[in-house]
Amino acid sequence: MREIIILGSTGSIGTQAIEVCQNNGYKVTGLAAGSNIKLLEKQARQLNPLYVACSDQNAANELKIKLKDTSIKVLSGPDGVCELATIKGDTVLNAIVGIAGLRPTLAAVNAGKNVALANKETLVAGGDIVKKAVAENKVSLLPVDSEHSAIFQSLQGVPNGSISKILLTASGGPFYAKKAKDLENVTKNEALKHPNWSMGAKITIDSATLMNKGLEVIEAVHLFQIKPDDIEVLVHRQSIVHSAIELTDGAVIAQLGTPDMKLPIQYALTYPNRAGLCGKRLSLTDIGTLTFEKPDTKTFRCLPVCINAIKEGGLKPAAANGANEQAVKLFLEGKIKFLQIAELVEAATIAQPTVKGYSLTDVLEADRSAREYVLKNM
Ligand code: NAD
Ligand code: MG
Repeated sequence: MREIIILGSTGSIGTQAIEVCQNNGYKVTGLAAGSNIKLLEKQARQLNPLYVACSDQNAANELKIKLKDTSIKVLSGPDGVCELATIKGDTVLNAIVGIAGLRPTLAAVNAGKNVALANKETLVAGGDIVKKAVAENKVSLLPVDSEHSAIFQSLQGVPNGSISKILLTASGGPFYAKKAKDLENVTKNEALKHPNWSMGAKITIDSATLMNKGLEVIEAVHLFQIKPDDIEVLVHRQSIVHSAIELTDGAVIAQLGTPDMKLPIQYALTYPNRAGLCGKRLSLTDIGTLTFEKPDTKTFRCLPVCINAIKEGGLKPAAANGANEQAVKLFLEGKIKFLQIAELVEAATIAQPTVKGYSLTDVLEADRSAREYVLKNM
């Protein structure tokens, strides 16, 4: 029987991943989250995993007391989450938000687990080290992000070296067609209203700034060994074409579907096989029209900043990501304005010195200093 460990189990992806595991009869052996112990306790009682983990120490202590009547062991702190990624199980589905997911991904890979990766920040900040660990441990790293899953699905049966371009689609977010002057005073609630997807707060803000697409360009460079110049971002308002590839002979292959994360989550677990999945089916006649446009990179600066960061390489992407995590937190707390997110991300990325190779320590230091830069310059 398949045994799955779910990191970030109380979040948007995590809760859907649990449903997918239940529908497929997979055993969930471990669950980890930040501090939402109410839901984590409920999930633990329902799924009876071997271990649960909370990155928040106090929450873990409380959970230990709550689960005293069960045989479920409770691990605590960031190290506890990493340990959970190495327990009995064949695959770790990482749906933690932010760079907090990087060490658990590496722990899972180094323990010989296959990883289904929703936590894109892992690849953005530490792509080179993650890929090296994946190769050394001969495990697989499969994308959960819908665009990268679509690219991966489109690549099935395509011979190596036949891809000439990636067409990465973007919904355009809640502020599509707006200009900088319209965005000066937008509120948190306006930014949190995504037109097509229901997701966690951080990625929803990233969709409003187009930082999410910038992070996804970097994620695609690492996952598919493609040059940034060979990735074309297309604004596709309907979120039906989840992304596409262009082959050397000009053929374009895409994956289409309704906007539902359960399919990419499931495919990362069943690959190379397919399994049934309930939910709304795509009706192209209901949709009628599919539109594609170039993104407005003048208004939405985070996208070109990320593209430049991956072109320069080294620690620039880690700095862009760290600055963004800090800036989004400040925006959600009402401490900075919407447009400041991009300004701070751009400035912190420029401030990060250019280097070639890097270690995990370097990545964590670049993340820390980018956050510090944002706090000093907000
Ligand atoms: P979310 O905020 O809904 O959930 C995040 C989860 O991570 C929660 O369970 C939280 O408790 C846990 N968490 C936070 N900090 C942690 C820590 N330090 N240690 C352990 N657990 C911690 O976020 P989400 O929308 O589910 O997104 C998760 C990841 O998936 C992000 O990287 C996001 O970019 C990516 N993603 C999400 C979607 C989506 O539809 N939501 C789509 C594509 C990719
Ligand atoms: Mg995506």
